[in-house]
Amino acid sequence: MRLVLKPLVAALAATLAAATAQAQGVINIYSARHYQTDEALYANFTKATGIRVNRLDGKEDELVERLRNEGAASPADLLITVDASRLEVADKLGLFQPLVSPVIAARVPAHLRTPNWAAFSTRARVIVYNKAAIKPEQVPTYESLADPKLKGQICVRSGGHPYNLSLGGAFIAHAGEAATEAWARGLVANFARPPRGGDTDQLKSVAAGECGVALANTYYVARMMRSSAAADQEAWSKLAVVWPNQASWGAHVNVSGAGILKHAPNKAAAVKFLEYLASDEAQVYFADGNNEWPVVKTAVAKNPALDKLGSFRADTLAVGELAKNAALAQRVYDRAGWK
Ligand code: FE
Repeated sequence: MRLVLKPLVAALAATLAAATAQAQGVINIYSARHYQTDEALYANFTKATGIRVNRLDGKEDELVERLRNEGAASPADLLITVDASRLEVADKLGLFQPLVSPVIAARVPAHLRTPNWAAFSTRARVIVYNKAAIKPEQVPTYESLADPKLKGQICVRSGGHPYNLSLGGAFIAHAGEAATEAWARGLVANFARPPRGGDTDQLKSVAAGECGVALANTYYVARMMRSSAAADQEAWSKLAVVWPNQASWGAHVNVSGAGILKHAPNKAAAVKFLEYLASDEAQVYFADGNNEWPVVKTAVAKNPALDKLGSFRADTLAVGELAKNAALAQRVYDRAGWK
């Protein structure tokens, strides 16, 4: 198993700062997020509370596997990861304990939390098309991507990837299992090529004209928009975004989130950290680190790329509900041949 064991490099600065500020405790975070702005976030938390932050960075699924193996002996207090379906997997494995905090209940909208974990930033899964090949009127909805008129036009990553499983989970909640399967079949029939690569690869393929349309998370789009690389700017110049399903259930929204682990040795400090993460200041750092939106209404992120994409109607389906449907979405995709 490959794990980036660098709690200590990243945490060293925080550790030293805390030592001088008289450490009043410690928390151990297993995190699947590692962005520049997150460093400031951890440092500010330590400055404000005196609580030292140790962080172990790893890939999402590897961290869950590690927590399973460590069991009750785990030193971890918190798991921060991305995607509702992944948080659901961790929850189903019994890794979390109830998240009881009036602060989080007051600040994180109800549809963006479950009894055991909460979202701290959001991203949308959008339709991205090649402006020379496709008209936006052809692709207004997720459903429209299954239209036989788009044969050979669709590029998308694997059906088994959590981002597509969460989308499928939402689709099932809104349209039912049978309609979701019919949609997936239609989508597969329109593939330009078998799924491979991540969302950014799909964007590049659409820009290169290998396909006309792709599905991608907004932060990949924003990353390309904000990139200083000439190739990215050239690619972005060919592309445009459709906010899907604006006349029906809204654009599918997924999350980065966190939960307190069942065997957390430092539970009180972990609650404090999540409450801090729901503060306006931390929300802006957390969201901005990955070009996402804050979950707290009063936190205003100024992200030039996301601002440029404009506002949209977001699906307000409870994250817990779409996450619970993810396993069924996998079976539906398997039947539909979305590998
Ligand atoms: Fe991603």
